[in-house]
Amino acid sequence: MAPPVFRFAPSPNGFLHLGHAYSALLNFDRARETGGRLLLRIEDIDATRCRPEFEAAIFEDLAWLGIAWEMPVRRQSEHLADYRDALDRLSALELVYPAFESRAEIARLVAAREADGPWPRDPDGAPLYPGDAKSLSASARDRLVASGMPYALRLDMAAACQRVTGLSWNELGEGPDGERGIVPAHPAAWGDVILARKETPTSYHLSVVVDDALQGVSEIVRGQDLFYATSVHRLLQALLGLPGPAYRHHRLICDDEGRKLSKSSGSTGLRALRAAGITPSSIRQLVGLD
Ligand code: GLU
Repeated sequence: MAPPVFRFAPSPNGFLHLGHAYSALLNFDRARETGGRLLLRIEDIDATRCRPEFEAAIFEDLAWLGIAWEMPVRRQSEHLADYRDALDRLSALELVYPAFESRAEIARLVAAREADGPWPRDPDGAPLYPGDAKSLSASARDRLVASGMPYALRLDMAAACQRVTGLSWNELGEGPDGERGIVPAHPAAWGDVILARKETPTSYHLSVVVDDALQGVSEIVRGQDLFYATSVHRLLQALLGLPGPAYRHHRLICDDEGRKLSKSSGSTGLRALRAAGITPSSIRQLVGLD
């Protein structure tokens, strides 16, 4: 049997912190325990926030932690054609439509709907897409696209959920409410998610699913903050005919006030800890490993 494949997939939009160290070390440990392979993927599709110096720091910090990964490293910005291809396949199934509202317009639409009561929110707390671009005629769409207006390409969630039902995944870790084992997917909770934008032919959801399949990842070890997004990933995998890997969501490392760490959380940044003389083995202890 082929060895299991793991991946650590950071975005180079800031320095790594203790939460990343925990995730990377868990992946590394799982790969070692199982005789598996560990890949590193740089998720750099957001050109406005990702920077080469953060990528260089990722390599350096992981090596300092004692983590070894296979080469070459996959950098998402170099594979836009793969995502465009997946997007074209979803478009051919008539599951994708352009929506032209700006973020400010969406906020106004949500506020107007909330005058009549609460408007549904996705598992991350963002309001579901409130617009009706889905019902624009083909000619109106073409006209707006031709006018050069910016747009987001959204998944027609209702149509997608009609095509594939009964989705689930094998959870080897634990969800925020203790979910484990075979977990049913609820992608509709996310509404018409964005799959791409006029300027960027992909999104986090689309590229993560395409890459995990292209790289043959068999067990995805990542933070519980992405537990609910797995429902969208399972849906896209099914629509694109891609295999469904196992998932192992892990607890999040929090700061002293119990908040999830962010890339700007200075004192828990690996660089700050290293500068303060903390060793890689104490990082393991700090995150509760060994
Ligand atoms: N790039 C994502 C992040 O840095 C992780 C994606 C994933 O593990 O699925 O949060």
